[in-house]
Amino acid sequence: MKTSRIPGFYNMDVEERRQLLQKMNVVSDEHADYLFSKEPLSLDTADHMVENVIGTFPLPLGLGLNFLINNKEYIVPMAIEEPSVVASASHIAKIVRTAGGFKTEATDRVMIGQIQVVGCEDMTAAKDALLSARDELIAAANEAYPSLVKRGGGAEDFDVRLLNASSDSPYTQMLIAHIYVNTCDAMGANIVNTMVESLAPSVESITKGKVYLRILSNLPDRCLARAKCVIPPSLLASEGFSGEEVRDGVVLAYEFADSDPYRAVTHNKGTMNGIDPVVIATGNDWRAVEAGAHAYAARHGHYGSMTKWSVDQDGNLVGELELPMSVGTVGGSINVHPMSKLSLELLDVESASELGQVMVAVGLAQNLGALKALVTEGIQKGHMALHSRSVAVAAGATGEMVDMISKQMIEAEDIRVGKAQQLLEVYKR
Ligand code: NDP
Repeated sequence: MKTSRIPGFYNMDVEERRQLLQKMNVVSDEHADYLFSKEPLSLDTADHMVENVIGTFPLPLGLGLNFLINNKEYIVPMAIEEPSVVASASHIAKIVRTAGGFKTEATDRVMIGQIQVVGCEDMTAAKDALLSARDELIAAANEAYPSLVKRGGGAEDFDVRLLNASSDSPYTQMLIAHIYVNTCDAMGANIVNTMVESLAPSVESITKGKVYLRILSNLPDRCLARAKCVIPPSLLASEGFSGEEVRDGVVLAYEFADSDPYRAVTHNKGTMNGIDPVVIATGNDWRAVEAGAHAYAARHGHYGSMTKWSVDQDGNLVGELELPMSVGTVGGSINVHPMSKLSLELLDVESASELGQVMVAVGLAQNLGALKALVTEGIQKGHMALHSRSVAVAAGATGEMVDMISKQMIEAEDIRVGKAQQLLEVYKR
């Protein structure tokens, strides 16, 4: 039986970890080849992905462990350059699995395409005309992408808003039509863009106006994923801090973030620290996910916390996260980049919806990881200890020297490149 609980993984070397994954049968031979290859993304493939290619830019790929989500085990690939994120997510996932694991759910995967119409003689009449043509516009959108309809998706709703209705300026008054499209397992940007571009001539003819923008919205608030965890305080106790103290600190930290954008942005960065690495590892568009998540955090008119932390009637800490998740398991570069194919195999998700749910669970874990450190010993102790190895490498250490110098810097409580260089000089003598 597959498990994401792999004690001692942290202490293995890279080779041992790779071999263990193969032994566990969670990586096929084809994908193991990529893992063991010096150049998983070939220059030739890279040159076909973007323009003006001169090389590739590898990132560390770590595994978030211990994730139990809806009673299913997940080994979570995370592509990230920042130390401590993978360790922190795995640490919290271990606590949450003891408490029964994460529970997640999702709405249908409905993306939004926008069409901007200006210059109509009578904006209200044009809006009404568009609304009257709703069904034929939905049908026309689906004709532009019949394969999606065959898969059970396609355009399913349409509405129109009049922006800046009281303005006299031809530059500010405009109609914005939304077409809502179930994009199945694709993120759907190209699908939706194809649809809205195909609708533009009909929209102009119906409104007698001019269409300018025809493009996907990165705020897909009908494509949401939700994660929840309930943790008894006994599992939160930390050196010198009772579980109740940690629980209350987390709730106070949440209230701080939800009331203050200066804190919210950092709090949310911590949540995205969990989500982005999974988005990147699976070849998804992290700019789209980032943009949607931050806009969603401002949906109530002020920018607040993405996560919510509270105490239930039994005294448990309850964490919740709901975000738009415009990610896919097909399309874009997902089936082009060998490492994203490997990541999806490791995750073993059956749909884009399931992938989005894993991502919000990791985001929730990561947020709690940061808050738990912040309300106890502070973020620096653990973070700098893990960062010390990067500092040693930055100072020029290699091989065994990295761990030796990192250990000495931690003991000296002085984790800086200058200190690492001093220690390196001593070893070189
Ligand atoms: P694609 O253009 O690759 O479309 C996905 C394709 O996957 C579909 O055409 C479909 O082809 C095929 N497919 C196979 N199986 C399925 C399935 N189960 N469900 C759905 N489709 C399936 O990618 P997207 O439309 O997803 O667009 C994503 C890309 O667009 C990303 O690279 C993103 O960076 C980029 N982008 C983002 C923008 C933004 O965020 N604002 C704007 C523009 C582009 P078929 O049905 O024919 O087999």
